[in-house]
Amino acid sequence: MDMKTCAVLLAAGGSSRMGTDSEGRHINKLTIDIEGMNAIERCVRTFSRCVDGIVIVSSEANEEAALLAERLSEVPVKTVRGGERRQDSVLNGVRAANCGIVVIHDCARCFVTERIIMEAVESAAAYGSGAAAIKVRDTVRYGGGAAPVDRNGLMQMQTPQAFDREKLIAAYTEAGDATDDAAIWERVFGPVRLTGGSISNQKITERDDIPEFIRFARGGHDMRFGIGEDTHRLVPGRKLILGGVEIPFRLGLLGHSDADALIHAVIDAMLGAAALGDIGRHFPDTDPKYKGISSVILLKKAASMLRENGYEIGNTDAVITAQEPKLAPYIDEMRKTIADALGVGIERVGLKATTPEHLGPEGNSESITVRAIACIRSI
Ligand code: MG
Repeated sequence: MDMKTCAVLLAAGGSSRMGTDSEGRHINKLTIDIEGMNAIERCVRTFSRCVDGIVIVSSEANEEAALLAERLSEVPVKTVRGGERRQDSVLNGVRAANCGIVVIHDCARCFVTERIIMEAVESAAAYGSGAAAIKVRDTVRYGGGAAPVDRNGLMQMQTPQAFDREKLIAAYTEAGDATDDAAIWERVFGPVRLTGGSISNQKITERDDIPEFIRFARGGHDMRFGIGEDTHRLVPGRKLILGGVEIPFRLGLLGHSDADALIHAVIDAMLGAAALGDIGRHFPDTDPKYKGISSVILLKKAASMLRENGYEIGNTDAVITAQEPKLAPYIDEMRKTIADALGVGIERVGLKATTPEHLGPEGNSESITVRAIACIRSI
């Protein structure tokens, strides 16, 4: 038998359960943008790493998107037109797929993984069939007050479903109508082999599913990064405060507030990640209410601003560049103070100090500079 494998990607459905957008236009679940790629493109990209060829079965409405998706494939792609019912579309695709194994997949399951595809394909190569399925996790019942169905052994079918192509064509010719290819196969050849699916291998079905899919594409959260940098002059007659901790030293940092360059850099990194401007915009040094203020208070305010804008802190990291004093004994206390102000665990606050080899203003103890980075995530 020819053991080459072709994917048959179904993009011929009418998205009939998706409804319309705010301007009354029909929403097409397969061509809607999900973080830079639509569902057809996501499937083509993933399948092209697992198979020798791809057939996209497309409706007229999806044909342009199907042709555009071809550019993401590492293997040959052809596009054929779908039929009236799902099984007509499958059969058009399977006939066009010139391989020993065909692996059929609904493009609406656009977060399918290489593992799920390969398990189905390997099962079909060994046993003639392999269909992705997962255990039913929730209690299932019929409506109208009937008793729950015993879910023991109950499986929820997904795609991909892979088959010996010649046999599948024969089964289709004999079997007629069914909601999936596994059901058609087993009327003729007996039970289909089940392979591993995944709860993330879900099908976009309704309009409300789209934000969930976008969140998933982003890795669960909208994650952003920002940087901050601050320098203050060292002068006699001022306290040296870094990370909210008073450090004994003959010089202190000069500024309108307590001049805590570490916290200022962290605040700028956080605000930068959320594109909320900088510390000077929110806490201007011309405003008398910030004169001599503890920067820890400003850090708490910045953390609340992030929350108001829908973000929480992932982590921060900073480097203090200072020739003297020795900061190592104070690092953990500074981390703790910053973590408490942000309302996160100390393991989310990184901090290092470096000495600049007597070079530049920091090396001559004229100033201290701090550079910080922050990662924030949508709540
Ligand atoms: Mg500053």
